[in-house]
Amino acid sequence: MPSSNAKTSTVPVYVEAVLPVPLRRAFTYRIPEEMRGAIKPGARLKLPFGRRNLTGYAVELHTELPPDVEIDESKIRDIIEVTDDEPLITPEILRLTQWTADYYASFWGEMLKASLPAGINTEKVRPKRRKAVRLLTSEISGTPFTESQQKIVGLLDAVGGEMLFTDILEQANTNASPINTLAKRGVVEIFIQDVDRDPLAGAAFPELDDFALTAEQQNALDSIISPLKGDSKFAAYLLHGVTGSGKTEVYIRAMRFALDAGRSAMMLVPEIALTPVFSRRLRAVFGSDVAILHSNLSPGERYDEWRRIRRGDARIAIGTRSAVFAPLENIGLVIVDEEHDPSYRQHESPFYNARDVAVMRAHLAGAIVVLGSATPAMESFYNAKSGKYTYLHLPDRIGGRGLAKAELIDMREVFKRAGKDVALSHELLEAIDETFHKGEQVIILLNRRGFSQFVLCRTCGESLKCKNCDITLTFHRGDGKLLCHYCNYREKAPRVCPHCESQYLYYVGEGTENIAEQLEQKFPDMRIARVDRDTMAHKGEMEDVLLRFAAGGLDMLVGTQMIAKGHDFPNVTLVGVISVDIGLGLPDLRSAERTFQLITQVAGRAGRGKRSGKVLIQTYYPEHYALRHAREQDYEGFYAEEIKYRQRLAYPPFFVLASILIKHRDHAYASKNANILRRALDAANTAKQVRILGPAPASLSRLKNEFRLQIILKGTGRRALRETLDIAVSNADEQGCDLRTVNVEIDPVNLM
Ligand code: ADP
Ligand code: ZN
Ligand code: ZN
Repeated sequence: MPSSNAKTSTVPVYVEAVLPVPLRRAFTYRIPEEMRGAIKPGARLKLPFGRRNLTGYAVELHTELPPDVEIDESKIRDIIEVTDDEPLITPEILRLTQWTADYYASFWGEMLKASLPAGINTEKVRPKRRKAVRLLTSEISGTPFTESQQKIVGLLDAVGGEMLFTDILEQANTNASPINTLAKRGVVEIFIQDVDRDPLAGAAFPELDDFALTAEQQNALDSIISPLKGDSKFAAYLLHGVTGSGKTEVYIRAMRFALDAGRSAMMLVPEIALTPVFSRRLRAVFGSDVAILHSNLSPGERYDEWRRIRRGDARIAIGTRSAVFAPLENIGLVIVDEEHDPSYRQHESPFYNARDVAVMRAHLAGAIVVLGSATPAMESFYNAKSGKYTYLHLPDRIGGRGLAKAELIDMREVFKRAGKDVALSHELLEAIDETFHKGEQVIILLNRRGFSQFVLCRTCGESLKCKNCDITLTFHRGDGKLLCHYCNYREKAPRVCPHCESQYLYYVGEGTENIAEQLEQKFPDMRIARVDRDTMAHKGEMEDVLLRFAAGGLDMLVGTQMIAKGHDFPNVTLVGVISVDIGLGLPDLRSAERTFQLITQVAGRAGRGKRSGKVLIQTYYPEHYALRHAREQDYEGFYAEEIKYRQRLAYPPFFVLASILIKHRDHAYASKNANILRRALDAANTAKQVRILGPAPASLSRLKNEFRLQIILKGTGRRALRETLDIAVSNADEQGCDLRTVNVEIDPVNLM
């Protein structure tokens, strides 16, 4: 429809926006007169949506309604408010989130929301503002200055004219009144200043070593940075280096190079691995050029760090999963450390794997991406073998230090000898004692997932389960409560069985608390700290413990996987792994891989200093191939066996997987929807390119009060799988399937 008004041909009148709702489409809104010209793509908008008002994101502007859009113009609603004059979201992030949403069969609006610092629409992250004082004139007119007034003016003059109010109070040793008088006299001005909250304020930074790289490190670095020298194009590397081989040093030098070449850089690290020690090291190297984004920051700190990136003040972003969407411009280098780590996978909608998004980000930006690991994911190693990634290898530890030897302790033998179940073998206890007496440190690792204490009734045989989930409750000795680790339901541990009222309740398994207690009793002279999600609930607590351990103020850490990753404690010479087997028993395509990775990672924790280290692994399955190869630190051997199994069972990297969960409180309703969807999938799968399994009860068949059914798709090609899925979902919708019950996960990391 041609417009009669010439002005409308240049000033956008309509905006297409996406909203954080599970809908695949964008919505068109009208821009009211007074807001026209103020909106740019990427800005947040307050929008009417149904009966609610939501924050949406402008993705495209139009001067007139696009001719191909079938919209009734009278139904188009007005924007309520433009939240940002300067868009928060850069064009690059708009594109990246659109790609991500599409790839994961997810929703652009939800992806955009997930890309921004959590809580950005709330009070919590409002910029922190502090009162400051500015000197306007040091000329006196009228009454002469009092002594304190004179001091204040002198102080301001000496620092260039501006200071924080509180600093003046402190340094001039005065109260507020002389400052206020000066303000009234027009000598100074009091104003409000934005200040950035710095998560590392007041931290001490380590000394920097400036050593020469080894030949292998230098080779790796040269390959990585060579595309940055010319017109850089996309290039992907897999940096496979054993723990302690100096990967981190390569990352740091590559980032330095990118910066010197006028580009920005990003480094992703797993959830917990962004250790306090590591953050400080980066700050020492890059100063305020580095911004840190991880989940232990307060929302305010996180927002301020994010803003420093957005403003271009910080050109290096380091962070966990969602940092892959950091608004860096002109990015030249993307590093994903410990690329195999499952914490890169977002475990709720919108699902995405930050490692894979990182590769795409580099691709879109013409940047270099480096995936680094001692135990690359099967998919990544496969990509390196097939030439998709350039393979870089650091086979040796720095300084010729040997890798710690891993020894398997056969718990069947231990059981036979003791005549009963024991959690800690004699071999392990002896090794702890020996290590302690040499003045060296110990890490004891528990496999969190199965390693918890639960309550079983000896009379009726029932275990105490969560009333919302089909999951046994975990007993927490500290407060005598039973807790569901999935939905957070808690109750007081009962005296009698709720099923049969028997008093013979039996506490099965050894919790972290219990193991820590046993160790404390056996080694009363050792300073022991327990590290797991329960003890580390408070921000900073984990950091304190790790810093104390690094400084030698603790002799032993007892904890879950989170202490296995990334840390560098040179004085740790013994790592004990208790009950590694639980992982092997999980019905999951990646359980062997996870177990192999876990053991290799912990082995890497031992003997990082000058002394050699020892790793003891307690197991009931010493013959399992994951354990055999892990003991030898033989990645290739493990890969060769595991890849055959993946091929045989039609798993990645040979097949593309999608997992569809159908969830509802009412089992019959979930079942009905699942069956409609299954029929639609069969109908859409005309070329039979996709194998369809299910619906069947998911491994966690009931969670948070919902029944869960699962359909699994295995496709030889990504496109065929997606086409089948999209057609089926759309047809199922028409056939009465309630899509609110359907959750699609592309490339699931596990099938539980
Ligand atoms: P990774 O990340 O592969 O586990 P790091 O980069 O943390 O290994 O290196 C292990 C240790 O060796 C660190 O203490 C590091 O400072 C040191 N290091 C790294 N490269 C060198 C080098 N070229 N010369 C001497 N020491 C090095
Ligand atoms: Zn009972
Ligand atoms: Zn529960």
